[in-house]
Amino acid sequence: MRDIAIIGGGLVGLCAALVLQHPGRRVSILEAGNLEQARSDGLNARSIALAASSVQVLRALGIWSQVKAQAAPIRHIHVSSRGRWGVTRLRAEDYRLDALGYVIESQALGRCLLDAVEDQDNIKLEQNAEFESIDQGATVTIGYRKNKRKQTLQARLALIADGAHSPARTALGIGYESIDYGQAVVISNVEVSKPKFDTAYERFTPQGPLAMLPLGGKRYACVWTLAPQQANLVCNQDDAEFSAALQDCFGFRLGLIERAGERFSIPIQRTRAAALHSGRCLLIGNAANALHPVAGQSFNLSLRDIACLHELLCEQPLAGLDDELSQLVTDYVKLRDNEQRRIIRYGDGLVTMFSNQLPLLDLVRAAGLGLLDLVPPLKSQVALTGMGMTFGGNRLLRGHL
Ligand SMILES: Cc1cc2nc3c(=O)[nH]c(=O)nc-3n(C[C@H](O)[C@H](O)[C@H](O)COP(=O)(O)OP(=O)(O)OC[C@H]3O[C@@H](n4cnc5c(N)ncnc54)[C@H](O)[C@@H]3O)c2cc1C
Repeated sequence: MRDIAIIGGGLVGLCAALVLQHPGRRVSILEAGNLEQARSDGLNARSIALAASSVQVLRALGIWSQVKAQAAPIRHIHVSSRGRWGVTRLRAEDYRLDALGYVIESQALGRCLLDAVEDQDNIKLEQNAEFESIDQGATVTIGYRKNKRKQTLQARLALIADGAHSPARTALGIGYESIDYGQAVVISNVEVSKPKFDTAYERFTPQGPLAMLPLGGKRYACVWTLAPQQANLVCNQDDAEFSAALQDCFGFRLGLIERAGERFSIPIQRTRAAALHSGRCLLIGNAANALHPVAGQSFNLSLRDIACLHELLCEQPLAGLDDELSQLVTDYVKLRDNEQRRIIRYGDGLVTMFSNQLPLLDLVRAAGLGLLDLVPPLKSQVALTGMGMTFGGNRLLRGHL
């Protein structure tokens, strides 16, 4: 019997295991893939912007120095609208912070988390272990297949972290709401001739937002939202054509786009589970909420969810909590529902406001950015939401386990 079983060993599942493990608590992760293989794969262009709240969680886990060594700080954010005069700038010093956030390649972050998980005796990571079934009685019984053999695992609490398409969510009979934004993101790492260290750019265009995130040196991670057909088109262009198209959309704030890495196109949908729990099974990460990457919030939000769960479970051995676990899960859902909905509205608002081609909205968004720059409390609210700092704190978000 394990205290906690986590289905899915992605970034969120690994973080949940690290946060919730405790000397008196045994945690298992079931992961369908082979993470060792992912560790040694070639360049994976996808990067992730870590909000200040996530930095605190990684600090509490004692792995921040390893993560920071591979991350680039964002000290300034420049937000503009293509072809319009409105601009707003966010500066870390205005909030007495060293950085507004950090950018790291997802694979590098995954490696740090995997190393930390492997260092913990009370976390058992099962790879090539594909979830198949889930039953709830006095405990949760999870059926999975490993090396073609059916196996079962019993746990007091199950965390469902198997991604946006979540087979475990389906097995629990939990539906989901899905919004297709009619957009795709093209991601690629590029090199520019005039990097502006520590500065990230968010540029709103009629097709959708384009983010350029610093990766250190001349390298930037480009996250470019386009209509799906356009996304396919630019992905199939050669390096010179792609660089020219990106240059045309982004402009020359970073000089010339000198080199472009591999391109990937990902369709964008926002999904939210119809319920966050069923009995002692709790949905986290993309299985609960998969948001538009424009706001850079899904992973950051998930870490705050995990921080809340950590606060509720404290360091109590779960064996003594058998009668209270269902109530604890219900309390968690009540506590997290509000922030999750606000972050969803924040992301939806950005997408709707900045991807709509109506001329009137075009003027409003230009005025909006100009206004934002002139009204400090409004700007602070947007900045603090982005940094995950508007929702109060708990031990983990203050950097303590
Ligand atoms: C282009 C892009 C940019 C982004 N940028 C940001 C950002 O800047 N900031 C931010 O906060 N978020 C960002 N995100 C979102 C972030 O990447 C995700 O929120 C995060 O990776 C989700 O992690 P997860 O572990 O919940 O899901 P996943 O990464 O999908 O992991 C799920 C895991 O479950 C496993 N699994 C699936 N099925 C089974 C099964 N049957 N049995 C066992 N295991 C199974 C999978 O193999 C996988 O390892 C971005 C997303 C995209 C697409």
